[in-house]
Amino acid sequence: MCVPGCQEAIHHALSRRRVFAAAATFAATAVAPSSAIAAPRSFKRVVDLTHIMSADFPTFDGTPGIDMQKAKDLKKDGYNLYQWRLNEHSGTHLDAPIHFSEAGMTAEQIPAETLVVPLAVVNVADKAAKDPDYQLSRSDLAAWEHQHGRLPDNCCVAMHSGWARNASDQAKYVGRDANGVMHFPGIAPDAAAWLIKERKVAGLAVDTLSLDHGASKDFKTHVLWLPGGRWGLENVAGLDRVPAAGTMLVVGLAKVKGATGGPARLFALV
Ligand SMILES: [Zn+2]
Repeated sequence: MCVPGCQEAIHHALSRRRVFAAAATFAATAVAPSSAIAAPRSFKRVVDLTHIMSADFPTFDGTPGIDMQKAKDLKKDGYNLYQWRLNEHSGTHLDAPIHFSEAGMTAEQIPAETLVVPLAVVNVADKAAKDPDYQLSRSDLAAWEHQHGRLPDNCCVAMHSGWARNASDQAKYVGRDANGVMHFPGIAPDAAAWLIKERKVAGLAVDTLSLDHGASKDFKTHVLWLPGGRWGLENVAGLDRVPAAGTMLVVGLAKVKGATGGPARLFALV
């Protein structure tokens, strides 16, 4: 509500630039009007947070995530074309809610406004370097908020464990021991539970094979997180090249009907 003359007064008070910035902020936070940190209004560079997908990229069960067969050849057919046989959950990819629920959203049902979100990067690389079973904790989230303010609504909380640099070394990335147990960092179930209860987060991201740490047997973080309509990103690259706060994440997820997730090209707008 605005009393007569109020609009004019506002326009006089704000420069053109500030009016535009306010509009941009409103647009960016329209789905989450109570966002504590305004989304950035512009960006200087785009950081690709995506690993190169290939049959060599480490997978959870050890089988190649993609098989590419040449179906058409330029010399013979006039154009090149491959057919892919693909595991939805391989390479840099998204877990849709249906991945761990009976009736959760499938990939094509995830609203676009929850796939372009503020990115909060929680750095646990020092701890993970000492302990490959490290789980991002509530105190890591508290430390992030102490430094950067309350996690913005509709954000993605990303674990930067430093694991992305191991992606070219299958054995190191998977960390499988003599008993077949995997060892890589993940997000602690109680940290996920706290985010669900106390904050409004759209998605979690990890730079490892799974939201749950490698040794997990019950996938409790997945079980808590996905059925509530939230998504997860796994095998994220390049988190060491983006600031802890103030960037936007664009999740370019393939829109495949009924999919439980799928490869995603991730861009951080810095
Ligand atoms: Zn997955």
